[in-house]
Amino acid sequence: MQVLHDAPLAPLTTFRLGGPADRLVTATTDAEVIDAVREADATGTPLLVIGGGSNLVIGDKGFAGTALRIATTGFELTGTTLELAAGEVWTDAVARTVDAGLAGIECLAGIPGSAGATPIQNVGAYGQEVSSTITEVIAYDRRAHETVTLTNADCVFTYRHSRFKADPDRYVVLRVRFALEDAGGLSAPLKYAETARALGVEPGDRVPLAEARETVLKLRAGKGMVLDPEDHDTWSAGSFFTNPILTDEQFAAFHARVRARLGDGVEPPAYPAGPGHPGHTKTSAAWLIDKAGFTKGYGTGPARISTKHTLALTNRGEATTEDLLALAREVVAGVREAFGITLVNEPVTVGVSL
Ligand SMILES: Cc1cc2nc3c(=O)[nH]c(=O)nc-3n(C[C@H](O)[C@H](O)[C@H](O)COP(=O)(O)OP(=O)(O)OC[C@H]3O[C@@H](n4cnc5c(N)ncnc54)[C@H](O)[C@@H]3O)c2cc1C
Repeated sequence: MQVLHDAPLAPLTTFRLGGPADRLVTATTDAEVIDAVREADATGTPLLVIGGGSNLVIGDKGFAGTALRIATTGFELTGTTLELAAGEVWTDAVARTVDAGLAGIECLAGIPGSAGATPIQNVGAYGQEVSSTITEVIAYDRRAHETVTLTNADCVFTYRHSRFKADPDRYVVLRVRFALEDAGGLSAPLKYAETARALGVEPGDRVPLAEARETVLKLRAGKGMVLDPEDHDTWSAGSFFTNPILTDEQFAAFHARVRARLGDGVEPPAYPAGPGHPGHTKTSAAWLIDKAGFTKGYGTGPARISTKHTLALTNRGEATTEDLLALAREVVAGVREAFGITLVNEPVTVGVSL
């Protein structure tokens, strides 16, 4: 176990933002993870768990406590059952399942970060979410002081949310188990129209696994959604805001605002909100931001909207977390004024809030 004091956290995040931690512990085995968590809890020291740092906004003052970087490794494939250690690099694990000819997570290629963080916000993209394939999460329960196994139902997965996100100081994920599918080298049925279109097939069709993965990677790269250290459009946390979920009444009020502002013919995006939100409608945060006047590349300071995607706020190289938050607050206020909807940040904030 490596322990550093007054350690910079910015290099551990994809935003490259945030001050130092009093202590930074890097754990490479489950036992080291558990030891570090127990020690912090026994001494009443605040604990910040870090995987790939791709969904974290850390304040400029840093973290007064122990930051625990999870660097465990383990990729075990038995038949169609996959078990990943929390520290495994997610996008590499996806590539290995595709090489093994198994379907279920191929459209989640290119998502940065660790396997252990995927259940936290029920990672999803291009028509797949990990909630469809996760069978069990093995975690250290800081309340019960023991290692526990949570079933898929125990995780209470919904859109970009889970039991872990709802109760952030309770569980440290150690391992994640997935049930994949052997479809003879083909992908799961494609659910996302853009992917199907790019592959020249219909939604619901299956395609060779490698083609599905490569197409998703290409689509993502075009939006700055694959990490590239040379490209400031990827110095981000991916989507900075979640897509708003509205009741019928809220949607009707929103619809009226859209018509008043943009004209009668304009229809805002509307999709069923999915499991956990029956009868609700999801609209698009990217659309709201764009139509409120924050177009790609918006901003003149060191934090700006990505030139490739309106939903990604980015560090152009010299930004501070305060610069980023100022931009985020400006976007939230502008969208609220235009459409009466308050956007909610997707990344986890540490020591700061919007
Ligand atoms: C370019 C880019 C594109 C992205 N695209 C997508 C996308 O398409 N879909 C999507 O869903 N997300 C996307 N994201 C967000 C991010 O990649 C995911 O949320 C990812 O799962 C975060 O993993 P991480 O290991 O980096 O977590 P971190 O950023 O290190 O941590 C995020 C949160 O999870 C907690 N956490 C991390 N590991 C553990 C653990 N083992 N146990 C308990 N808690 C833990 C942390 O404490 C923190 O609260 C994108 C990010 C970037 C930068």
